[in-house]
Amino acid sequence: MTVQPIRLFGDPVLRTPAESVVDFDAELRKLVADLTDTMREQNGAGLAAPQLGVGLRVFAFDVDDVLGHLVNPVLEFPDEEEQDGPEGCLSIPGLYFDTKRRLNVVAKGFNSYGDPMQIVGTGLMARCVQHETDHLDGVLFLDRLDPAGRKEAMKAIRQADWYDRAAPPVVKVSPHGAGNPFGLGR
Ligand SMILES: [Zn+2]
Repeated sequence: MTVQPIRLFGDPVLRTPAESVVDFDAELRKLVADLTDTMREQNGAGLAAPQLGVGLRVFAFDVDDVLGHLVNPVLEFPDEEEQDGPEGCLSIPGLYFDTKRRLNVVAKGFNSYGDPMQIVGTGLMARCVQHETDHLDGVLFLDRLDPAGRKEAMKAIRQADWYDRAAPPVVKVSPHGAGNPFGLGR
């Protein structure tokens, strides 16, 4: 099994833009296998490398019985059509919010051997490709919600049983420690 733990909302790796893949080697193919196995075990439609704590521009997808992956994706939008519907994320488990996306997308990139690849996606596939490419830029689907939707989503996240209420820590500056939040020696 190459199923790996998925990083959850609040982990800084999910907010860090990923680096382009340079080496199309066995290590990359191991990463693609881990992404694919973990995504399938969780019944996800997609999983991006930062969700496994790896800062590389790679994602796996499993949409409408089409299983695959894409390395160094670049998105193009052939038209202005939009879609609106429920979207979720394996890093924000159990929560779904209506999210506006483009309806059609052409994603160009490479497979794990460095061969050029292209995904022409509509509907759910287009939504998945946009969601996963966002992950590679440190963007979460919450960022695509309007302010009211985001507020509602944050409230639901704070109430979720997986959410670690201890993190992120709130740093309080003690009046006795003037500028030294840990109250340790100067
Ligand atoms: Zn996600």
